Amino acid sequence: MALAVVTPRIRRLICANAHPTGCALNVQELIGKVGQAGPREGLGNVLVIGSSTGYGLASLATAVWGWGASALGVCYERPAQQSRTASAGWYNVAEIHCLAREQRRHVETLNGDAFSHAIREQAVEALRSRYGPVEIVIYSLASPRRKDPDSDTVWSSVIKPIGTPHGGKHIELRTETVTGHDLEPATEDEIEATVKVMGGEDWELWVRLLAAEGLLAEGARALAYSYIGPRVTHPIYRTGTIGRAKEHLEATAERLNSLLGDLVGGNCWVSVNKAAVTQASAVIPAVPLYKSLLYRVMKDTGTHELPSDQMIRLFEDHIGPGRTPTLDSFRRIRLDDLEMSPDTQRRVQELWERVDTDNLNEISDWSGFKREFLQLFGFEVEGVDYEAPVETEVSWD
Ligand code: NAD
Repeated sequence: MALAVVTPRIRRLICANAHPTGCALNVQELIGKVGQAGPREGLGNVLVIGSSTGYGLASLATAVWGWGASALGVCYERPAQQSRTASAGWYNVAEIHCLAREQRRHVETLNGDAFSHAIREQAVEALRSRYGPVEIVIYSLASPRRKDPDSDTVWSSVIKPIGTPHGGKHIELRTETVTGHDLEPATEDEIEATVKVMGGEDWELWVRLLAAEGLLAEGARALAYSYIGPRVTHPIYRTGTIGRAKEHLEATAERLNSLLGDLVGGNCWVSVNKAAVTQASAVIPAVPLYKSLLYRVMKDTGTHELPSDQMIRLFEDHIGPGRTPTLDSFRRIRLDDLEMSPDTQRRVQELWERVDTDNLNEISDWSGFKREFLQLFGFEVEGVDYEAPVETEVSWD
């Protein structure tokens, strides 16, 4: 038992704690929404790597509650320790398990380093003994570092431009002022390390192991998530180090597509998703400012989507049973179509040119961005009494 009143411990868009009740309510809302959008049936076993927050959590919930799948999730989350709360992802998984038990759905989660051979072997063991071959494998990891599974090398990703320095607008988080940032270009080693962390190497190890173990069902589909975004973020995202890693991920999809096609008549795709508020993306320069402007435009035009809306669309239109995905000329699924529509981008670009400290709150959705960020950690969630002590030690069983 560890009862405590939990208030946000947050510094510059890094949140060090989470509220268990708020996270549980978030998950209940997510499941209510994906269940309502369905309910469809007919999906078998699904493996989601990166299943506790963001796009991975929304994917798992959609597969299970929207399409009747049995799911194995993999994530890396921290349980509560003494006076420290658990991570938001920990509380999310606890609620997923609780609802799955109540509603007789099959969800299990492995907590550990997805980059290690050990967790892959645990996943193989779980699938072989309690699931069977998987129909969909979703890779939704976002991590700042990766340990080589075969040595002691640890790669750390960086968010930097490639080739030339880049200066651009962004929100200085301490003072909440719109200012400029200057980023030096990445070194070759930094580019390589970022590709090692966020590229397709680890994804390929997962899919090849499942193939070798006979754990891919006939027609199995593998997916990883990517982002492209607008021109203003290209130097630090798409044409920067992370973009290089995403190019590697997309090239990996081609190799895995051939493998799955030959082996089980399956497919492999990258889905380019819309910009969403997540812990990992909040610390990328320029991104909170861009998202605040984008959210303002998309909310005003009624096109705003959360990860849950995106994943409902992904399954309904592209990868659910019997669906054939619509692909762009690079064979990618484009869930960022509404974000990247010329009208939305033109409006965002106009605001981008005008935005400064004085008009930030007036022309952008900065307050909505911050609220959504806090909600990721279970704060500012409607219906929670934040003055009441709560049990912070929550088990997954
Ligand atoms: P997130 O931070 O919300 O989720 C990351 C998940 O990875 C969590 O479940 C976490 O536990 C897990 N994880 C991290 N390191 C791990 C490790 N070593 N072992 C096991 N699990 C680990 O991230 P997200 O924003 O949902 O991003 C998921 C994917 O979607 C990424 O590939 C990202 O590039 C892509 N994407 C994100 C956005 C966005 O705006 N957030 C947009 C488009 C695409």
